[in-house]
Amino acid sequence: MRSFFYKKKLDQHFLKDKNIAKKIVKNLSFQDYNTVVEIGPGLGILTTYLLSICSKVFLIEIDEELIFFLRKNFSISNNQIIHKDFLKWNPEEINLKNFALIGNFPYSISSQILFHLLKYNQYIPECIGMFQKEVAERIISHEGKKTYGILSVLIQTFYDVKYLFTVKKHVFFPVPNVQSAVLLLKRKKKIKAFNKNILFKCVKMSFNQRRKILKNSLKSFIKKIPNFYNLPFLNKRAEQLSIREFIQLTNEIEIRK
Ligand code: SAH
Repeated sequence: MRSFFYKKKLDQHFLKDKNIAKKIVKNLSFQDYNTVVEIGPGLGILTTYLLSICSKVFLIEIDEELIFFLRKNFSISNNQIIHKDFLKWNPEEINLKNFALIGNFPYSISSQILFHLLKYNQYIPECIGMFQKEVAERIISHEGKKTYGILSVLIQTFYDVKYLFTVKKHVFFPVPNVQSAVLLLKRKKKIKAFNKNILFKCVKMSFNQRRKILKNSLKSFIKKIPNFYNLPFLNKRAEQLSIREFIQLTNEIEIRK
């Protein structure tokens, strides 16, 4: 498409290296699912490889010009090429209940993409995404590290995360300012029962004031709870708590309510 001008505001950085595209797609396991949803297919470098191994592919692209291009160049039915902002897409609308997510994600919304994934995690057993390297490092981080934060806890609560490989800038057009990395997320087989709303609230509130101990950062939330001063970990800071401890705290709050 010679006349295509990339749009900076849509975070368009197109992958040029076909071997990297192949390597990303090759990591899909197709265990327990046969449908793949691609976020931001762009000019379709990943799509080409996806279609060579999987017949049920849905593409979600926000740029109308690219939608025309994809419809013209890929032989998949038009209702599988969806013109939409992924953050407003609800898989239930098209009755999709079991699929993998893949994409070279638009970096400025990659955290929001992950929160969207967490909203629908019951339908998504696997996700492979290209992230800004720093964001990827935050997602895989552990307690005690500076990079440990909201996304590390929430993603690792539901998914086992693997850092697949680093990707250099020059394989994209236009060249981004940052390095990239590809992550593989596999949903955990067993997730202990807990109240999702309480966990999200605790994690967000405690990391939003990460220098404070939980007694202070969670104050407005827990002060209404009977015997809240008996809750565990109140003298620790968010980054000192493991994922298991966040879940323990969530369950202690739940039983007191
Ligand atoms: N996958 C392609 C393009 C990556 S660039 C490749 O690897 O070359 C990011 C892509 O995401 C662009 O096509 C951009 O138009 C699209 N995009 C940006 N914001 C989006 C959103 N909110 N929802 C869906 N697609 C989006």
